[in-house]
Parts: sequence; C-alpha cells; structure tokens
Amino acid sequence: MATIPLKCKCGKVTGTATDVTPSSGNRVVCCCSDCQSFARYLGQESSTLDKFGGTEIFQMSQAQVNIETGHENLQSMKLTKKGILRWSASCCNTPVANTLSASMPFAGILHTFMDLPDRDSTLGPVRAYVQTQYATGEPDYPNHSAKFPLGITLRIVRKMLLWKLMGKHKPSVFFANDGKPVAQPVIAKQ
Ligand SMILES: [Zn+2]
Ligand SMILES: [Zn+2]
Repeated sequence: MATIPLKCKCGKVTGTATDVTPSSGNRVVCCCSDCQSFARYLGQESSTLDKFGGTEIFQMSQAQVNIETGHENLQSMKLTKKGILRWSASCCNTPVANTLSASMPFAGILHTFMDLPDRDSTLGPVRAYVQTQYATGEPDYPNHSAKFPLGITLRIVRKMLLWKLMGKHKPSVFFANDGKPVAQPVIAKQ
C-alpha cells in the first residue's frame, strides 16, 4: 500500500492519498467534453489534458484523501447545475478532484494534484480510456472506448458499494458534517 503525496502546482495545498494500490481504485483517462471544459475553465489545458484531450484520474474513496495544508484554497465548481462537483486549488488553478455528493464514497483525483512522477509503478496501468468520441485528433490509446465500458462501470460501482458499507465517505475533506461542500460551488452554466 502506498501513500501518494498530493500537491497543487504552487505548493500551498498539500496532502496525501492513503492505502493506494493498483487494485484499490480505478485509473482511467476520460476524454469527455466536460472534463476538457473543466481544464479549459481553469486555463490548465496544457498541464491537464494529454494530446488527445484526455484527463487522467485515479478514482478512490473520499476517506483516503487527506488535505494537510491550504484547505482554504479548495474551490469547487459545476459545469451545469446537475453536474458533478469539480474541485481545484484557487491559489494556482490546479485541478484537484471530482466528487459526487457527501454520502457517496467517491473521489476522482486528477493526475495534476498527485506529486507522483512515476504513476505507473504506484497506480498500475490505465484500466480504461473512455469517452474517446470526444477526443481530439485520432487517439491511439490501447483498447479505448467511445463510452464508459460496462466492465469499468461495474468495477467502480462494486467498489463504491463496498466503500459505502465500510463508511468510506467519511471523513471527507470536501464535505462538512452537514453534507455541504466545504466551498460553495460556482455554477458555470445555469
Ligand atoms: Zn496552488
Ligand atoms: Zn470526463
């Protein structure tokens, strides 16, 4: 089990993700237009997106994520009112994570927030390249898929059920005890 150092680009927001192994979570690259819009919204396309517009994310439970410094710099947004909550560091616009609600034990940490030069050895290979119908250019990812393949969807659903049973939606650095996000989300499009 590894502990991954987490750090925004300027170093104000730091933390760790604990108990990480390749099998403990889901390493995916998402090419969907929303993930691309998030990077664009922050002005971070070049550091966030790969050459085909993909964003690399490691999906884990909320309880695995600890923020040690710079909590006050955590900011959140939603692309649309019903969208998922997307977190970043206000100090330097580093994309941090995607979450669902407080009761869902889910946090997708973006690679930009991991201080981990060699992700392959800690996280294992990327399990799926998804939503590649939104990719830019002609992606040459291995085994990529235009949608979210059933296998990877079931894998994360199974993990979330297990994490829920284990109470891994808490403690959360993203939600207060009353279930409200620690930073009120900005809605990009009403
Ligand atoms: Zn920063
Ligand atoms: Zn996406």
